[in-house]
Amino acid sequence: MEPSRSNLIGTALRRGLRRRCPHCGEGPLFSGWSHFKSCSSCGLIFVPNPGDTWAFVIFGDRLPISAIIVLIYFGVVRSHPVLGLTLLVALLGLLVWTAPNRWGVGIALHYLSRVYWPDPADPIPPPPATGPHR
Ligand SMILES: [Zn+2]
Repeated sequence: MEPSRSNLIGTALRRGLRRRCPHCGEGPLFSGWSHFKSCSSCGLIFVPNPGDTWAFVIFGDRLPISAIIVLIYFGVVRSHPVLGLTLLVALLGLLVWTAPNRWGVGIALHYLSRVYWPDPADPIPPPPATGPHR
């Protein structure tokens, strides 16, 4: 286990959260509400097979959200309807607001899986010349 491994994970996730390419940290992931096919800076193809990110989207996104909504609905709305509905609306607003960031993290997770289990048919571009820590 080389020490750079956890760095790579943290760096890629941070870049995803900032809606940047997890590989080089330069190219944007999104234009408005749709994501780019590949990085404009290093050429990394973000999602080679659209089906590949489904697991990350469902387990990292849909399940926690459903759990939170169910918890608020059954835990708060029943005993404090006004507070509960306010919480739900605030939560939904927050979810829409942070959606690109969470998708960015999903893309970063997918990218990491491609780095650790390389597929010859799905090459990762060489590391950017500017260095890996940015
Ligand atoms: Zn890039």
